[in-house]
Amino acid sequence: LLITFEGPEGSGKSTQIRLLAQALADQGLPVLTTREPGGTAIGNAIRALLLDPVHSEMSPRAETLLFTAARAQLVDEIIRPALAAGQIVLCDRYADSTLAYQGYGHGQSLEELRRLNQYATGGLQPDLTIYLDLDPELGLARKQAGAQQEWNRMEEQALDFHRAVRQGYLALAAQEPGRWLVIDATRPVDWVQRAIWQRVEPVCRA
Ligand code: C5P
Repeated sequence: LLITFEGPEGSGKSTQIRLLAQALADQGLPVLTTREPGGTAIGNAIRALLLDPVHSEMSPRAETLLFTAARAQLVDEIIRPALAAGQIVLCDRYADSTLAYQGYGHGQSLEELRRLNQYATGGLQPDLTIYLDLDPELGLARKQAGAQQEWNRMEEQALDFHRAVRQGYLALAAQEPGRWLVIDATRPVDWVQRAIWQRVEPVCRA
């Protein structure tokens, strides 16, 4: 079972992943948590490359290829073996991030990005994708309050970019309602946690 989490910074994604992993472990279910870009030594090196403000001139296509390269490594090294061993895998971001950020956000061809995702994942699709939906203005405010790591990409600072990303996520969710769970991330942490659990628990029992 592969469950992916999507949502902007400040949406509480990592908190909810931690809570869900704990809840699954409490049920005695084997669970593995990972994230992208990162999750492997190669993925972390790619993440560092993407984060480094020195690379703010990075070509958008180079950026896309780096995100998808990290994904390919994560799928081959971590996710597929874990699934084969019967683990429930919770992944912080996955292929939909590429469609939302590089596609809807940066205006790259969705068709090409889907092909690239297909190549990078070998066709591995999430069983469930949980999207923590948040108005970008609120997300950026929360992020600044939390003083998290800096993603120093100029276009990332622009509210319009984040609005386009959000609309992208909502469009993706509308195309595949069976796979997506869209949750209002402005709700309290325990409310969001319960909403996620209600959806995940029956899937885990199946
Ligand atoms: O919250 P997290 O650490 O996952 O944030 C990663 C950031 O990387 C996102 O906020 C986004 O700006 C960027 N990103 C991206 N394209 C992706 C995945 C992440 O631009 N495919």
